[in-house]
Amino acid sequence: MNTSQQWHAKAAKLSIETRVFIDGKYVDAASGETFACVNPASGEIIAQVASCGQADVDKAVNIARECFESGVWSHKSPVARKQVLIRFAELILQNSEELALLETLDMGKPIGESLAVDVAGAARCINWCGEVVDKIYDEVAPTSRDTIGLITREAIGVVAAIVPWNFPLLMASWKLGPALATGNSIILKPSEKSPLSAIRLAAIALEAGIPAGVFQVLPGFGPEVGTPLALHMDIDCIAFTGSTGVGKKLLEYSGQSNMKRVFAECGGKSPNIVFADCPDMDTAAKAAAGAIFYNQGEVCTAGSRLLVEASIKDEFVEKVIAASKFMQPADPLDPDSFMGAIVDEGQMDRVLGFIDDGKCNAKLIHGGNRVRQESGGYYIEPTIFDEVDEECRIFHEEIFGPVLSVITFETMEEAIRLANNSEYGLAAAVWTRDISKAHKTAKALRSGSVWINTWDGGDMTMPFGGFKQSGNGRDKSIHALEKYTELKSTWIVL
Ligand code: NAD
Repeated sequence: MNTSQQWHAKAAKLSIETRVFIDGKYVDAASGETFACVNPASGEIIAQVASCGQADVDKAVNIARECFESGVWSHKSPVARKQVLIRFAELILQNSEELALLETLDMGKPIGESLAVDVAGAARCINWCGEVVDKIYDEVAPTSRDTIGLITREAIGVVAAIVPWNFPLLMASWKLGPALATGNSIILKPSEKSPLSAIRLAAIALEAGIPAGVFQVLPGFGPEVGTPLALHMDIDCIAFTGSTGVGKKLLEYSGQSNMKRVFAECGGKSPNIVFADCPDMDTAAKAAAGAIFYNQGEVCTAGSRLLVEASIKDEFVEKVIAASKFMQPADPLDPDSFMGAIVDEGQMDRVLGFIDDGKCNAKLIHGGNRVRQESGGYYIEPTIFDEVDEECRIFHEEIFGPVLSVITFETMEEAIRLANNSEYGLAAAVWTRDISKAHKTAKALRSGSVWINTWDGGDMTMPFGGFKQSGNGRDKSIHALEKYTELKSTWIVL
């Protein structure tokens, strides 16, 4: 592993591609316009990135459609697509330092995490989707003897992936892997806050053998690129990860245009329920701190509501505070940093606004401040509120920052009611030695993922997504491939 100094030296030498990737080539945006990309660790501009609009969207969609119809990728056998995707994953790993640096410079997360989680996870996802696609069979229906009913899946066509900034590469790969494996053409719109790794990824895909035009990248802003994609009459599917508010707009745009499929992975306000009989309080407390402070709290599944049984609350919260002292924000290019910078000034101000609101409505027991201001960057220390009432904004709203709300309960029923008192339903955890209580609680939680005696468990074999306004559809696992295919029934009379 490089030292902090070595990472800084590599960052200074990095040559950053900032253009649009259309039809296998880097080009300027049709308008020639650019926008500034800022390093949140220092507040400095690191690049001017091409800013796409309607003309770029139209061009990319036409090319994606032509590619799809030509069969250059869509008609390849699953085993042929598999080989290219495995190569793609290998090349991601070969370029892991560069990709991790782009991720860290662009959105402020610690370099160690960019390497171990974002880049490694993206490669694993692409590899897994490649590996699985030649092992999936279609179906024959149980029809009468003189008929055959074939139930087959075929690629949906042109997919637009619109992704957020908190895990730029990883969220993109959760769309790219299954969409490419099933033979679609895909246009990726990264967040305007973190476009750099997606732009670089496009050239890696081409090098791996993904034909020109099958995977294109359009950097730019939501209303200028995301909206035209979502309203486009020749896009068959929007694969979105981002806020619930934008997810709802995309569903409307689909209705206003061609009823394209919209799969929206959206926000969360995940409860972490700790019963008095949790197997190991130290482990649970460290996990509770990591659940909210990991990635600066900028995680859709952040464990932002800690529900603790009253009899252990004081002792447990002390342990969470102790654990959080090892999770202070620091230079993202230091490989020992646990927490980095908040993605931009606007997001930092938003989080500080929630902290101010929390101070009026709950008891601030730890942190609460912007720190490392001398760096020019946007850092907020781990922050914990106790005595958070169900009516508070910090109980209900997704903060997307390092702010934990502690709530106490007396019974399992009360814990379940509090946990489910949310418009979201993305993830939840339950800590108890009692297997019956664990299962009863898990079954009662309206949540796409439930973790028992751990936080953030799972791998590529498990679907990921939410109940309620956390979205629809699922990323990861074989279920993710279903989203990018249409089901066809072929009825044959013999
Ligand atoms: P966001 O909704 O602001 O933006 C997401 C993407 O949508 C960006 O690329 C953005 O440019 C684009 N966009 C914005 N406005 C648009 C519009 N009007 N039309 C079309 N596209 C538009 O979200 P964000 O701030 O980038 O990310 C944070 C959110 O993402 C949080 O709510 C978080 O919970 C969620 N998230 C969810 C998951 C999950 O898997 N459920 C994972 C990561 C993040």
